[in-house]
Amino acid sequence: MLYRTVPKTGDKLSILGFGCMRFPSTRTGGVDEERAIRQIRHAIDAGVNYFDTAPIYHLGKSEQVLGRALAGGYREKVRIATKLPHWSVFEREDMDRILNGQLKTLQTDHIDYYLLHSLAGASFKKMRDLGVVEFLDAAKKDGRIKNAGFSFHGNVKEFREIVDACDWQFCQIQYNYLDEQNQAGTEGLRYAAAKGLAVIIMEPLRGGNLAGRVPASIQKIWDEAPAKRSPAEWGLRWVWDHPEVTVVLSGMNDEVHIDENLRVADEALPGSLTPDERALIDRVRDEYRRLMKVGCTGCGYCMPCPFGVDIPGCFAGYNAHAIFPHDRAIKFQYLGHHGGLMGEKSHAGLCRQCGKCAKICPQHLPIPALMKDVSKEMEGMMGVVVPVLRGLLWCSHKIGRVRRAIMGEKAHA
Ligand code: SF4
Ligand code: SF4
Repeated sequence: MLYRTVPKTGDKLSILGFGCMRFPSTRTGGVDEERAIRQIRHAIDAGVNYFDTAPIYHLGKSEQVLGRALAGGYREKVRIATKLPHWSVFEREDMDRILNGQLKTLQTDHIDYYLLHSLAGASFKKMRDLGVVEFLDAAKKDGRIKNAGFSFHGNVKEFREIVDACDWQFCQIQYNYLDEQNQAGTEGLRYAAAKGLAVIIMEPLRGGNLAGRVPASIQKIWDEAPAKRSPAEWGLRWVWDHPEVTVVLSGMNDEVHIDENLRVADEALPGSLTPDERALIDRVRDEYRRLMKVGCTGCGYCMPCPFGVDIPGCFAGYNAHAIFPHDRAIKFQYLGHHGGLMGEKSHAGLCRQCGKCAKICPQHLPIPALMKDVSKEMEGMMGVVVPVLRGLLWCSHKIGRVRRAIMGEKAHA
């Protein structure tokens, strides 16, 4: 296992991190806990020391299973990363309550890497107004967390602003050979690294879509390579080739894939791809772009939209859905990020057809017309799904408050 260093602290992290959002499942759809624990311990024995979880993964089960897997001496060998979900925070005291609950669930007295989950510009502003900077400082001071960071799904301008707003030790961004100009992208990766942040990479294979069953025209290009590698190995090697990258998370749940990733993580030094191999990956990227419905490069020149549409973000979701129509999570992620569930609304349906963006777009895309297509394809269920999920979050918050009030009164009775 290769390790890379966190610039501000000198901590050495395995370049392969274990993403705990896709544990193996049982026939009935629950988490196959025994198998997941075996996989986690096998990865630790092979040198993986970074485990990334969150309250939302497996609806709370991920933190529980990781906590159990690390009992019996494994906890001391690893760093735990988990996250504060801004959509469950309504007031300052929620932050302490959620963190304290996570420490209990994970059976530990500290979180090594604590992230604000899935930030963009508006959600960071909300959390800052609620006192999250003071919360993180206090939690570091009293030892409940060691390092503070954030995971990110906004645009690169927002990313730079968040990087500059606090004394972060690390950040987590989506990055793969299709997302160089999407979200934080290469510009954000270099910016964060230049500021001394460790950069953790999520979605190196776009939720597995760049691995496994790839389109035939893509596989044809891979088959031309002298080195016989799976699409997953090519994708991971491309990310690790960047010296600014610290850890690459992989949501592993199959023993064969885990061993393949462990093997590659023994070799994937920064700058280890040859010029010919990089050129081959460029061709694969071009072919994926050809398969996309909209030729948006994610440059962001059209932003901001006066009506709040995240134009490149909407196109990225639409294109992902076109290339990988079998992946139902893509639509759900679109609704989560743009439908107002995890921040301000920024979906295509907000477009008022003003045409301002189309005048600036260097790709000459007919953006107003395309926004209608995106809205029709991606937002059919939005009017139902988003209010229901928002309502559930609000109710669980209120019920939790009432329950804590009763328990508190009983405790003092
Ligand atoms: S045409 Fe639509 S997406 Fe473009 S700037 Fe106007 S409202 Fe925004
Ligand atoms: S200007 Fe055009 S290519 Fe650039 S992000 Fe906007 S729509 Fe995409």
